Amino acid sequence: VAKSEGGGRYRIYHEEMDAGRRNRVMIEAELRDALRSGMQLEVYYQPQISGEIISGVEALVRWNHPRLGLLGPAGFLPVAEESGLIIELGDFVLNAALTALRRWPDFRLAVNLSAIQLSDPQLARRIVAGLKQHGVPPERLELEITETAMLTADAATKANLRKLRDAGIRIALDDFGTGYSSLSHLQDIEIDRIKIDRSFIRNLGGRSDSAPIVQAVMYIARILGLDVIAEGVETEEQHRFLVEVGCNDFQGFLFSPPVPESQISGKSASPSSASN
Ligand code: C2E
Ligand code: MG
Ligand code: MG
Ligand code: MG
Repeated sequence: VAKSEGGGRYRIYHEEMDAGRRNRVMIEAELRDALRSGMQLEVYYQPQISGEIISGVEALVRWNHPRLGLLGPAGFLPVAEESGLIIELGDFVLNAALTALRRWPDFRLAVNLSAIQLSDPQLARRIVAGLKQHGVPPERLELEITETAMLTADAATKANLRKLRDAGIRIALDDFGTGYSSLSHLQDIEIDRIKIDRSFIRNLGGRSDSAPIVQAVMYIARILGLDVIAEGVETEEQHRFLVEVGCNDFQGFLFSPPVPESQISGKSASPSSASN
């Protein structure tokens, strides 16, 4: 009896695992189709504010999934990375964003790259070719890379970063302060800008106030000559504090969530919060 119960439990456990795996395989197949048809994937854009104007947008991928509805990157990026489809997905995002950029002649474009994309030996060549094809000057493109991706950099990644920078493309360190941070990275890796992670902005004035950390980051950035942008700015209080400590570039729901391309007007207009 014990044996058959054990067998039953074993089988149930196994079926659950299979369901999880089946689901991943299904998502992967559907993502492959979506990439092929180009119909369901969409790039949203979130304004980046400099002082009072929109100076750029960050491209953030979305999937209008026929069964599951609108999916954010958390719902499919891991599968894309494990399956290698991230390379095609990255090309799709870059191409869509560079096309959209024609409507926004004053904006800079920020695009996220994952570690797997960075270790693709062809990455830099394809990005530079994409810029040329769309007639976009390299300094209008900023690539957002996490500290962790920088840290695990293999030879191909390092070569890519060098080529991209030599081409005049900007590099930003995304989610700064959350990865395996080391101040030495800021010197070793040539970057143009730091994105202070949302968690530090969220905790401004909170119980474990992150104000000293934000101030310290501002100080270091100033000395090293790096630009800074704060991500996840949601309240006027956070905005005010950032201005006080010398941060003038912001991104967050206070100004705008990520929106479809059609909702971004090409003028360097005041942030929407100004009219609240
Ligand atoms: P990220 O690059 O740090 O992007 C910022 C994330 O914070 C976005 O989530 C954005 O919607 C969200 N966000 C922006 N402002 C606020 C705010 O004020 N409050 C809160 N609570 N959240 C805010 P999203 O779009 O879900 O993207 C998640 C992550 O997925 C991104 O984090 C990025 O690492 C990755 N990702 C997105 N698009 C791409 C892509 O095309 N390629 C690659 N490789 N990664 C991407
Ligand atoms: Mg980013
Ligand atoms: Mg970020
Ligand atoms: Mg993030």
